[in-house]
Amino acid sequence: MSAVELKIDFDKVRPATNTIIECMGYGSNSNQELVLSNTEELIKESENHAKVIGGYKLFEDNSIKIESGKLELIKISFHLDKIIAKQLTKCTSIAFIVVTLGKKYDDWINQYFKRGDPFHGYIADTIGSEMVENAADYIESLVENETKKINLNSTNRYSPGYCGWNVSEQHKFFSLLPQKFCGIELSDSALMNPVKSVSAIIGIGKDCEKKDYQCSLCSMENCYKRNRQENINN
Ligand code: SF4
Repeated sequence: MSAVELKIDFDKVRPATNTIIECMGYGSNSNQELVLSNTEELIKESENHAKVIGGYKLFEDNSIKIESGKLELIKISFHLDKIIAKQLTKCTSIAFIVVTLGKKYDDWINQYFKRGDPFHGYIADTIGSEMVENAADYIESLVENETKKINLNSTNRYSPGYCGWNVSEQHKFFSLLPQKFCGIELSDSALMNPVKSVSAIIGIGKDCEKKDYQCSLCSMENCYKRNRQENINN
């Protein structure tokens, strides 16, 4: 199947003010007027800087093999750790998804830090992190809808650099997608540019299940995904 790329409306990724305040560690009942009003203001302004683009590509069953913690796709071997490998064992297809807020959003965050305003920089950065995850949620839901139409189930999404999957495998990941897919490029150290981007795989199959991340098995303490999952579950 060819890769699908689309623009995502800001309304689909707009974060709630309370979510941003919680992510920054102020708690949902924060009465700090300054934080609240600036967060509301920057969420509104973020619409002028985010160009949200996402896409996905499905790899069907005859090209994939999953065994012994390895995923083989079109002769490329991915080394997944036990957390991800366990969730993918029953999958017969894999979706690769990516989303980005675009370079202008990175520039908007950076200009705050450059002019010595880390307070607004931190808020804009947190808004971006939440927005790009919302964009990934949206693309994940499109993949889920496609798979449901053919009576298949899907797993949670798993990203290079998380859940025991080494970020260096990002190069292999992007080698299976069209060049500069969604406008994303990789640095030599496998970091995505624009920075506010997410890449992930989703397992698909009749016997797949969508389960929470297995954070109790993981040593990554300050994980954005872990905090986000806890916020969703509470
Ligand atoms: S803490 Fe949870 S979400 Fe984060 S990397 Fe570990 S398993 Fe994945």
